[in-house]
Amino acid sequence: MILFDFDYERAETLEGAVALLARQPGTARALAGGTDLLPSMRMENIKPSLLVSLGAIAASEPQMLADGSIRIDALSRLASLEGSDLLREKVPMLTQSIHVVGGNQIRQMGTLGGNLCQETRCMQLDQKHDYQFVSPCFKRGGDCCYPFPTNKRNVCWSVYMSDVAPALIALDAQVEIIGETGSRRIHAEDLFSGDGIKQLNLGQAELLRAILIPPTPRGFAWGFHKSTVRGGLEFGMAVIAVALCLKEDAKTCADARIVIGAVREGPVRPTAAERALKGAVLDEKLLAHVAAEAAKEIGPLPHHGFTKRHLMDNIRVYLRRTLMQALERARGAEHQD
Ligand SMILES: Cc1cc2nc3c(=O)[nH]c(=O)nc-3n(C[C@H](O)[C@H](O)[C@H](O)COP(=O)(O)OP(=O)(O)OC[C@H]3O[C@@H](n4cnc5c(N)ncnc54)[C@H](O)[C@@H]3O)c2cc1C
Ligand code: SF4
Repeated sequence: MILFDFDYERAETLEGAVALLARQPGTARALAGGTDLLPSMRMENIKPSLLVSLGAIAASEPQMLADGSIRIDALSRLASLEGSDLLREKVPMLTQSIHVVGGNQIRQMGTLGGNLCQETRCMQLDQKHDYQFVSPCFKRGGDCCYPFPTNKRNVCWSVYMSDVAPALIALDAQVEIIGETGSRRIHAEDLFSGDGIKQLNLGQAELLRAILIPPTPRGFAWGFHKSTVRGGLEFGMAVIAVALCLKEDAKTCADARIVIGAVREGPVRPTAAERALKGAVLDEKLLAHVAAEAAKEIGPLPHHGFTKRHLMDNIRVYLRRTLMQALERARGAEHQD
């Protein structure tokens, strides 16, 4: 039950939704599938004065553009994208990342835009503890942090847990954003601020309109892994997305993108590890070394009961396996887990 009053408007177009959001700066929120926003409102983490529903705006089907890139409507339901033949054929890493989001009910309701714009998570925030009402933490506008009491004021180490964002960043996707003054396009990784309090570089009246994925280059191969305790129906302990581009010898790395999710305030790329792969002849020993260095470079934040040490071990082991998975794909042998 939501125990505070708010207004509700149903937008007919994205432009109309932007105009409605601009009417109440700071206190209006877009509502897509509601699977993230409504629980946050129930816990009073977020208390908007106006909800602008995007539910009446039809989402277009994913389409391939003339230059071979793929355009996906941000309002698309995750379940519809998961079943898209075009996406399964052209960007299977994306459909796999969507498939592991929550359970079927979440994917039936949840949209791609809502998934990317979901809140960061913290056990001390995402429960209706009395103490959060008496003495709120930084993210609730207060002056303390419960799990990290020595943090400087306004440093919030809540973690961002979209499974889809790491895959999109590994695919070098762009995000089309619509606002009061028109549209702009940014790289998907630039959507994330790295600040647990305001995790997105998005203005109050800005909305995601579409995601654009460039054509994959020759020699492209991918790997994806989401670690969970139960193996499904839950948020990730760590999420790993890897895109490799191999030269014609199928051994030398021309380019590498590694993205780790669920362990920091936004998805992160271990850029030194990526550089160590570029130009190198890939083998299991090098990949094991790079994975171990990447775990140190990222410095995962302890979250939801997982210690930093545990998360570093997890990333070290599963990044090596995910890189191997990509390498084997590049060599034409389907990886067996
Ligand atoms: C039980 C449960 C399990 C979950 N498990 C996972 C999981 O395993 N992996 C995972 O990645 N996520 C998970 N989620 C999180 C999330 O709810 C879903 O991933 C979903 O995709 C969110 O989309 P939505 O359309 O419901 O977003 P909403 O709840 O409608 O919106 C979420 C946020 O995004 C904003 N927003 C929505 N659309 C746009 C847009 N077009 N442009 C700009 N801002 C927008 C809203 O204002 C709000 O702030 C889970 C949620 C629940 C409740
Ligand atoms: S990590 Fe962030 S959300 Fe969690 S208690 Fe600290 S300030 Fe609040």
